[in-house]
Amino acid sequence: MLFSLRLHLAIVFTFLCSSSFSQNKVAIIGGGIAGVSGAYFISESDPGAKIILFEKEAKLGGNAQTVLVKNKEGLFVNVDAGPQYFVEGPWNDYIAFLTKTLGENPYQTESVAGTLLIQRESQEKPVLVSPLGIKLRGEKLGKLLKFKRFNKEAYAMYKNPDKWKGITIETWVKELKFEESYKNEIIYPFLAASLGTTITEIKKTSAIDIVKLFAFRKPKASNKFKVMTEGMGTLIQRVGEKMNPEQVTIKCNSPVTKVVRSKDKWLVTYSNNGVEQTELVDFVVFATHADHTAKILKSEPDLKEVTNSLKHLTYFEAKIALHTDSDFVNTGKPAFLNVMTNDSNQLLSNTMNLGMISDRLNGIYKSWLSANAIEELKKSGKLLHVSSFWHPLITTEFITHLETLHKQVNEFPSLYLSGGWSEGLETQNSAVISGKHAAEKYKAFTSKGK
Ligand SMILES: Cc1cc2nc3c(=O)[nH]c(=O)nc-3n(C[C@H](O)[C@H](O)[C@H](O)COP(=O)(O)OP(=O)(O)OC[C@H]3O[C@@H](n4cnc5c(N)ncnc54)[C@H](O)[C@@H]3O)c2cc1C
Repeated sequence: MLFSLRLHLAIVFTFLCSSSFSQNKVAIIGGGIAGVSGAYFISESDPGAKIILFEKEAKLGGNAQTVLVKNKEGLFVNVDAGPQYFVEGPWNDYIAFLTKTLGENPYQTESVAGTLLIQRESQEKPVLVSPLGIKLRGEKLGKLLKFKRFNKEAYAMYKNPDKWKGITIETWVKELKFEESYKNEIIYPFLAASLGTTITEIKKTSAIDIVKLFAFRKPKASNKFKVMTEGMGTLIQRVGEKMNPEQVTIKCNSPVTKVVRSKDKWLVTYSNNGVEQTELVDFVVFATHADHTAKILKSEPDLKEVTNSLKHLTYFEAKIALHTDSDFVNTGKPAFLNVMTNDSNQLLSNTMNLGMISDRLNGIYKSWLSANAIEELKKSGKLLHVSSFWHPLITTEFITHLETLHKQVNEFPSLYLSGGWSEGLETQNSAVISGKHAAEKYKAFTSKGK
C-alpha cells in the first residue's frame, strides 16, 4: 500500500516536473541586487532554465560596494561606500530574500538612531539638532516640535501615496504651513540630504518617492536604521556563491555591449577578457541602469520607442568619500546625519558620523562631497576611500516616462527591464521587488510557450 502510494507520488512528481520545467536559456544583465535576485527567483520558478548572469565589474553587488578601511585603532573594518541602511517593514522583501538564500540568521546588524544636525558653516550654533536619546542639547524646543510636525506630514503622505501622485517636492512644501525661513533653512536642506542631491534638484522630484525614503515610521525618538555589519555588498556576493552553478552561470568582468532580436530569440554580445562573445537566449532581463540599458539596446530597431523612453530617465552623480576629517561634523553636538549649508541655505556637505553606529567605526565619516572638497581631503591625507555613484532623479516626469516604458516593454513577452529604478523608488528593497517582477514575467512567458 505504502509502496503504491510512493509510486503514485513519484509519477505525479515526474508529471509536474516535465510539465513545468523548461529548457530555456535566460540572460540577466547586471549583477546588482536586482540581477542577483532576478536570477534567484527565475531559477526557483523554473529549475529547468539555464541562466547566465553578466556583470561588467569583477564582483557582484552593483551600487552595494563594501570596502575595507582602517579605523582609529588601525584595524580593517567593513564599510558600505554607497547604500547601507534598511529597516524592517519597508525593507521586508530584501530581508526575506537574504534569509531565503543564506539561511536563518544570515547576517549581523548594527543600528543607529536617525539623529540630525543642520548647521550653517558661518555660524557656531546649529540651525537644528535633534535630541540624542531623550537629551536636549540647547535647541529651541519650538524648532524641534515643528520638525516633528513636518515628519507627521511626511508620514501622512507615506500612508496615502495615491493622493500625491504627480506632486513635486516643491508643490508639497509650498502647501505646508511653516514659515518660509523654516522651509529654506531646515526642510529643503534635510530633503536634499536624504537623497544626496542639491536643493534645486530636490524641488523637482516626485514628493511621494522622496518621502518613502525616510518617512516609513511614525516619528519617534526611538526610530532606528539598521546596517549590515558585514556590509550590503558582501551579502550580495555571498548570495552569488550560494546559487546552484548547474543552473546559474555567473560571468563577472563581462560587460554586455549589445542585445538584438534574432528570430524569436535574443542575441547577447558581451566581452570576456577583451574577447567578444555571443549567447543566444530565449528570455532576457536587464538589471542595469536605464541609461546603460538604452546603450545596449540601441542597435535593435524594434526597440526604438523603448530606448527613447529610457533616455528620458535621468540620473545625478553622487561622489561619496569615506574619511577621518571631523571638520564635517559638529563634534560638540554629535548627530548621525550632519548637513552643512552656506548663507543661502545651499548644501555644502552631507556627512554621516559612522562612529555613532558602532565603536568599530569610530572616527570614520561618510560624506557626499564636491570634486574640489574631495581633492582637499586627499591633500590632507584624511581620505580613506572615494566612489562615484549614479542615482536616478525620480521627478514626476520620470514617473510618467516609466509608466510609458512599462507599457512598451509589455509588448515583448521575452523581455523585462528590472532594477530598483524600474519600481520608481531606488532602494535595495525595490530592486528585490523588481527581481520578483522579472520572474513573474518569465513565468507568463513559459506558460504561454506551452
Ligand atoms: C549613494 C547611494 C546611497 C544609497 N543608499 C541606500 C540605502 O541606504 N539603502 C537602500 O536600500 N538603498 C540605497 N541606495 C539605492 C540602492 O543602491 C539601489 O536601489 C540598488 O543598488 C539598485 O540595485 P540594482 O541592482 O537595480 O542596480 P545596481 O546596484 O546599480 O546594479 C547594476 C549592475 O549592472 C552592472 N552593469 C551595468 N552595465 C552593464 C553591462 N553593460 N553589462 C553587465 N553589467 C552591467 C553594474 O556594474 C552593476 O553591478 C543608495 C544608492 C546610492 C547611489
